[in-house]
Amino acid sequence: MPWVDELSEPQELRRCIRDLVALSTLPALWKDYDARQIADSVAAALLSMLNADIICVSMPGLRDGAAAGVVRTSQAVSSRSSDHIERILRGAWRGSRGEISAIDNPLGKGTLRIAAAPMSFGGDAGIVAGSVNPQFPSETHRLLLGIAANHAALAMQRRHAEAEQRRLASVIERSSEFVGFAHLDGTPQYLNKAAFELLGLSGIEEVQRLNIFDFMAPDERARAHREALPMVIGTGRWLGELNLRHFKTGEIIPFLVDWFRIDDQRTGHPTNMATVSRDLRPQKKLEGDLRRLNESLEQRVTERTSELAEALERLTLAAEERLCADVRAQQLQAELHHASRLSTAGQMAGALAHELNQPLTAFTNLVNAGRRMMANGAPYRGDTVRDVLGEAAEQALRAGEIIRRLREFVTRGETEMRIENLPDLIREASDLASAGTGPHGVQVRLSFDPRAEAVFANRIQLQQVMLNLIRNAHEAMAQSKRRELEVVTARLDDKSIEIAVADRGSGLPDNIVRHLFEPFHTTKVDGMGLGLSICRSIVEAHRGKLGYEPNCGGGAIFRVTLPVPLER
Ligand code: ADP
Repeated sequence: MPWVDELSEPQELRRCIRDLVALSTLPALWKDYDARQIADSVAAALLSMLNADIICVSMPGLRDGAAAGVVRTSQAVSSRSSDHIERILRGAWRGSRGEISAIDNPLGKGTLRIAAAPMSFGGDAGIVAGSVNPQFPSETHRLLLGIAANHAALAMQRRHAEAEQRRLASVIERSSEFVGFAHLDGTPQYLNKAAFELLGLSGIEEVQRLNIFDFMAPDERARAHREALPMVIGTGRWLGELNLRHFKTGEIIPFLVDWFRIDDQRTGHPTNMATVSRDLRPQKKLEGDLRRLNESLEQRVTERTSELAEALERLTLAAEERLCADVRAQQLQAELHHASRLSTAGQMAGALAHELNQPLTAFTNLVNAGRRMMANGAPYRGDTVRDVLGEAAEQALRAGEIIRRLREFVTRGETEMRIENLPDLIREASDLASAGTGPHGVQVRLSFDPRAEAVFANRIQLQQVMLNLIRNAHEAMAQSKRRELEVVTARLDDKSIEIAVADRGSGLPDNIVRHLFEPFHTTKVDGMGLGLSICRSIVEAHRGKLGYEPNCGGGAIFRVTLPVPLER
């Protein structure tokens, strides 16, 4: 130790000891100092101890404080010069790479010898000392410089650690979570403010008389002992839900408990246990609220659904009732049509009897003639008798045909809608309607457009229409001189065909025309005035139209327009 030689002088030794003692007392002074104050204190002490001309102290900047640099000189200088001097000394220190160097004295004449001690923070933190003393720096100077730098660095580190600790403590203290530390035997050491409040505890003395298991709800303790604690000790952590209890109200509070072990950083041995636990009441309340909301929503949806189902049922019922009413109306209409046909047939009874009489009389006469031929044994040729009987059969068929048509006409059964041959249908209706009109000598002309042969219709109903129109025409011409009846079909366009029934009868006075298609308007003594209104309803049910117009030159024309059936 070469520097010890320097202290062979008792006076030097005493001085060195005095300086070392003085330096060791400094940290106690720095308790509440900031970095600048510490730097200033170090610089002042060293200026005197080293008998130096310049001391520059650069304290490191820590998280909660700025870096500080202080320059002390043996003679007073302006602050600008002070900054300049600091820059020169620092430059010299950086250039010296830790060796002692010498520069021109920035304070005056001569050479300034420079020594430095870094502050173990890296960067520029450290102390640089300069002196014009040619013996500077002695080993003692360097020792003092190093110790001062160490003290200052330690002081700064302590300040840093204390600040960190304070910060951590304030975070823990201010946390709304339950934070606590305990010995491994379960004796609580620390609880934060939230923990005290959450469990209704009054002070640390009360807490230290308890064990962490006392914090738990009684029926949770066994589980905590059996499951949680062994996991904390064994694996270092247990995370789960645990019910704690409020010491004043006895309320059981659910917590999400993060319970962990704290190990000694150096030895790795477990030293403590700690917990950061969250009060789950707000979350549970929220979950409960959500569940209730959900349930009430479900309830409302169920209610609305059943209301809708009821409304639907009511609607279905109403629709069914309407359907029934429609069916009933259709039935009534069919009954009416049928009644009307029966009435027409009744009105035609006399004429039909007359019509039937002709073939039946002819039939009787022919059969009698045939019988006579065969009974007399006269020499008639076989083919003559055959001809007579053949003629009789034809007359019988004619009578049968009249009866068939009539029977068909008054049938109740509604034939379905299908494609019908319009000329055939009109011919039959005309034949039936013309029955017994022979004496009037009406000239009937039927004219059919080959492009209007098919019609989609209920045959009986459409025949009823035709029969009505043709019979009305016949009746209208009973007193006329010109007795011409024309039934003409025509294709009007792509979509419709027309049947026109034209006569040369009396025509229609205006007062009749106004109410022509309304029921119970008749000019006939035995008329019901239902025929045309039924005709119009039938035609409209076939998606067609029935209209009237006067026939020029006298008489009436009734036009039935019907849709052309689809190709299919
Ligand atoms: P009804 O034949 O029972 O009177 P309709 O409804 O068939 O009932 O006829 C109503 C009225 O319209 C008849 O009474 C008649 O005065 C008039 N009418 C119908 N067709 C003709 C026609 N072709 N020529 C003149 N008048 C007619």
